[in-house]
Amino acid sequence: MNQRIVILGGAESGVGAAILAQKQGFDVFVSDMSAIKDKYKEELMKRNISFEEQQHSEEKILNASEIIKSPGIPHKAAIIKKAIEKNIPIISEIEFGSRYTASKIVAISGSNGKSTCTSLTYHIFKKAGLDVGLGGNIGNSFAQMVAEEPHDIYVLEVSSFQLDDTTSFKPYVSILLNITPDHLDRYDYTFSKYANAKFNIAKYQTASDYFIYCSDDEGINEFIPHYNIQAQTLTFSLDKKENSLAYIENNYLTLNHKPSFTMLTNDLSLKGTHNLYNSMAAGLASKVFDLKKDIIRESLMDFKGLEHRLEFVAKIQGVEYINDSKATNVNSVWYALESMNKPVIWIAGGVDKGNEYEVLQPLVKKKVKAIVCLGKDNLKIHEAFSRYVDMIANTNSAQDAVRMAHKIAAKGDVVLLSPACASFDLFQNYEERGTQFKQAVLSL
Ligand code: ADP
Repeated sequence: MNQRIVILGGAESGVGAAILAQKQGFDVFVSDMSAIKDKYKEELMKRNISFEEQQHSEEKILNASEIIKSPGIPHKAAIIKKAIEKNIPIISEIEFGSRYTASKIVAISGSNGKSTCTSLTYHIFKKAGLDVGLGGNIGNSFAQMVAEEPHDIYVLEVSSFQLDDTTSFKPYVSILLNITPDHLDRYDYTFSKYANAKFNIAKYQTASDYFIYCSDDEGINEFIPHYNIQAQTLTFSLDKKENSLAYIENNYLTLNHKPSFTMLTNDLSLKGTHNLYNSMAAGLASKVFDLKKDIIRESLMDFKGLEHRLEFVAKIQGVEYINDSKATNVNSVWYALESMNKPVIWIAGGVDKGNEYEVLQPLVKKKVKAIVCLGKDNLKIHEAFSRYVDMIANTNSAQDAVRMAHKIAAKGDVVLLSPACASFDLFQNYEERGTQFKQAVLSL
């Protein structure tokens, strides 16, 4: 009998894994505790892949030879606990996908900047004419690409949840941007467990692979001594350190991976210190593939930033409006505030994932004129910042928040939506929050 693969979670990654598993000849079953979206049901039905929704039938799951778990399902879910008790191996979709391709993988992780750096790297590779696919945590399922749309190279955004269940995932190039506290609810509130998941990106790499990381990052520096990294390491940092292969010197971004490359930081399309890191990381990955300097330079100059990440919306009566709805943790807000050079009306709030706001206090004191809270429960924000800011207002819709900010703002100010929180109290997701913010701004 064919080996049975059960896939838990019937969305992008689960359906992609099911398609690849079927192609590889496994007996495949997909099970989802929630309703499966129509588009995914159609994909499954079209291929005669059996599935169930709004339930987990144990008798159809716990007979699996292997389970592919969607990154959204925590290990403490009842069905996962039972599978572990029965010693059924549990892997992630990126692990499964990587078993069936010999193509080179560039995998990018970090607490912040994954999507930006992944898209930027993809943009450079595409411009260089490489046959490259973009996927993982961003957009398309990696496994589905492997099954139906293979490429020479895959540039993948990988989250800690996807890295949790890997047993051989071996990127040719891995990039670790930073490790700051996030998602700790999924890691027993233990930072080292979260860091451990991130370092899985390099765990199975060998000496013919590359590990690119930020040597300014405290989280990475704290944990790297615990890992026996076999890959060739290439580091980037803001200032030139002893081993830095990428750094900023006299306003030039420098890549010292032969032949060396420099370009004026002013010419980079992505602004802000955090984006210097993203640009250096993507630049180093491009150098590993020996891409031409002109292509790298041009791509770093003409890359269009992603929606909801420090996205300029409009200038209205001399006030700039910026949508950074994707900033769902303190660290990303730190970089947003740091990159502001005008007085800020800061719109923040939502569902707090255990934020410690102290690190923001100096920047808030220096740059923020007023805070407009956008959330159901704003107490923590008041407590953290009322000593530093004269005005803190409460609102509970994007429209009210924008109107309030508009009232407070004077010519030359900037209104920044950079919430430091998840959006689920008032919105479906961060995209909806950002979109409503932009609509409200444009209808002022
Ligand atoms: P991710 O995919 O890791 O969530 P994004 O690229 O979507 O990262 O960016 C999320 C938020 O973090 C945005 O507010 C963005 O401006 C900010 N950000 C982007 N790159 C970095 C970085 N290298 N360090 C810190 N914050 C960053």
